[in-house]
Amino acid sequence: MQKTAIAIHGGAGTITQSSLTAEQDKAYRAALQEAVEAGSNVLEQDGTALEAVELAVVHLEDSPLFNAGRGSVFTKEGKHEMDAAIMCGKTLEAGAIAGVRSIKNPIKLAAAIMQHSDHVMLSGYGAEEFALAYGLEFAPEKYFFDKYRYEQWSEVRDSDIFMLDHTEQRDEKFGTVGAVAVDKAGNVAAATSTGGMTNKRYNRVGDTPIIGSGTYANNRTCAISCTGHGEYFMRAVVAYDVSCLMEYKGYTLQQACDEVVLKKLVQFGGEGGLIAVTATGEIALPFNSEGMYRASKRGQDETFVGIYKR
Ligand code: ASP
Repeated sequence: MQKTAIAIHGGAGTITQSSLTAEQDKAYRAALQEAVEAGSNVLEQDGTALEAVELAVVHLEDSPLFNAGRGSVFTKEGKHEMDAAIMCGKTLEAGAIAGVRSIKNPIKLAAAIMQHSDHVMLSGYGAEEFALAYGLEFAPEKYFFDKYRYEQWSEVRDSDIFMLDHTEQRDEKFGTVGAVAVDKAGNVAAATSTGGMTNKRYNRVGDTPIIGSGTYANNRTCAISCTGHGEYFMRAVVAYDVSCLMEYKGYTLQQACDEVVLKKLVQFGGEGGLIAVTATGEIALPFNSEGMYRASKRGQDETFVGIYKR
């Protein structure tokens, strides 16, 4: 039986030591550690990679610190619209949602679509109707209210500016959450969830729920979850590009990540990063921004938690 591995992220961008107070730094680290260890426990207790990534993302969605679920940013209309996706590397089955407004845990809805429907992606009211049919939890608008994010939005609500979450230089920071894992059977899975970008046009959809852009998993290569400026990640088909370099060109995970995140995306102007894990338990956490909230754990080894570049 092989060693399990899991990695998570809570967004990338201009995250420097000076942009966070000591308390914020501590709170982010604690939230990341809790989420990665929750996922790792599932794997260590013989759970599947799919179960582990879903649970880790639920933890991050329930935290107001991250731009997903409860902490989702405001749209131009002053509402919340969330996107999410999950994918199984063994079967290549996937489930995704776009633009849902009142689902407490969007990743659970993406998983339900994968498990209980013949579709891959549902959006808006149709997705919420599906959630109702499968007994998923809804949350009132006030559940998603966060004072910091409301103030962030208030500054730009009357303009056409749309911006990424979590920063002082706000157009340079992102806040999606995600998890990738490999279980004892050697199956990989990926899950990503986001509130998108502050003041985004209503019905704007980012890379997160697009299979192959923000989320992808394939036992032959790896599982990937991205965070960054979604429009670039969609145009560069980032997650699938990493997988293709491994599958068709024989790159190692690290080589493929370096090529896509540190070369191609940089030339393209796409700021952000990703987390990835292979079926043999290799982990990569590349990013081309100042920082990325991230954590990983292999088997029962010590948990790694990182925020800044160095
Ligand atoms: N990729 C997400 C989006 O464009 C944003 C993020 O990663 O924070 O919706």
